Amino acid sequence: MIRATDYFQRQELIDLTKDLLRIPSHVGVETQEKEVAEYVLDFFKKHGIHAHLQHVEKERSNVIAFIKGRKTPEGKSLMLNGHIDTEKPDDMNEDLFGAEMSSQDLFSGEVKQGYIWGRGAVDMKGPVAAMMMTLVVLKRAEQELDGDIVFSGVVGEETRSKGMESLVACEECLGSHDISLDGAVVGEPTDFKYVASHRGLVWLDIKFKGKGAHSGKPQQGVNAIEKAVEFLNKVREELYPKLKQRKHDFMGTSVMNIGTIKGGTGQSTVAEEALVRLDRRYVEGETLESVIQEYQDIADQMKKEDPSFEIEISRTPESVSVLPHPPLNTGMDESIVLAVKEAIQEVIGQEPEVQTEYGWTDGALISKYMKIPTVVFGPGDIALAHTAEEKIEINDLVKSVEVYTHIADKFCVF
Ligand SMILES: [Zn+2]
Repeated sequence: MIRATDYFQRQELIDLTKDLLRIPSHVGVETQEKEVAEYVLDFFKKHGIHAHLQHVEKERSNVIAFIKGRKTPEGKSLMLNGHIDTEKPDDMNEDLFGAEMSSQDLFSGEVKQGYIWGRGAVDMKGPVAAMMMTLVVLKRAEQELDGDIVFSGVVGEETRSKGMESLVACEECLGSHDISLDGAVVGEPTDFKYVASHRGLVWLDIKFKGKGAHSGKPQQGVNAIEKAVEFLNKVREELYPKLKQRKHDFMGTSVMNIGTIKGGTGQSTVAEEALVRLDRRYVEGETLESVIQEYQDIADQMKKEDPSFEIEISRTPESVSVLPHPPLNTGMDESIVLAVKEAIQEVIGQEPEVQTEYGWTDGALISKYMKIPTVVFGPGDIALAHTAEEKIEINDLVKSVEVYTHIADKFCVF
């Protein structure tokens, strides 16, 4: 087994991470991930590793790189995957009431106290840099692989996973290079734990219809906001206890969050409309359809008791054209799970924990639509993602290259 740190300099990894951080790639950037994808492409080419772009839409492309193995019958092929977009920085600078929250430059890639700071440091340009460096290590070490190793950097994970949708639908992306994958690792930060299962995700819009009236005579109208409140109270009373009981060992319980509520046109008008947007995370055994039906059942029951109750439940428009986001549920005895677990153990010197109640990742799309067993492992603490204090420890980055190299060694070398 090779030792990754024999084949790269700490400073190279710091520079690579800083470079990625310095190219903003959030939704507020006109060309979004274009420049970062081109940077990644050039980086691989410079190191003599095959790389190409996969066009997704407009100027946006995924970037794919690979090193081919010898293709022995036992050889298994592995994909290391990460997203190259980041969460946008806006909400970090101002709170809801307009107060300044942070004036920190989020795109400087500043290094201090052993950390690299900035938007995307953990989520997930740091982990992406570690995965990129792993391919360089394998190349420099002239490691003989039996299976192939692939890196994919995809666009748009923070919004609707458009990049991963394109990748899972693209047969020639890997197929034309005679690559068929046997396992995948998504590098979202897990802080030297690993994730083989997480919940599925759906966004729902619940619209309430009322009847407008002047506030001096509210009895002449039907207040949509009040209907929304009644409905949400019913959901809290009846659905919350049921969700709590649906518990998966690793996913945690089924949960929901009321994300936003909008309604009414003015303080002196009975609200004619209200819109509640919620995020629902469901466990194995539940489906998109069963989730929607549960809200519909509560609505139907309320309609029986109150004929003025008007409601419409649908998937949030921006997410309707999106592939359903199912749970990830990879068996703990899959060889990729064992490889990840052993590789972490070898680097940290103790058996790694399984991280539970993890957020949704593109790993669920890989697993469901490419039918490839998938695990989540990456450096950094997910709790720092999307915060004003986003940072990644340089030591963790270095160690994670070691882990990824061990994973490749266990999985792709017979
Ligand atoms: Zn992420």
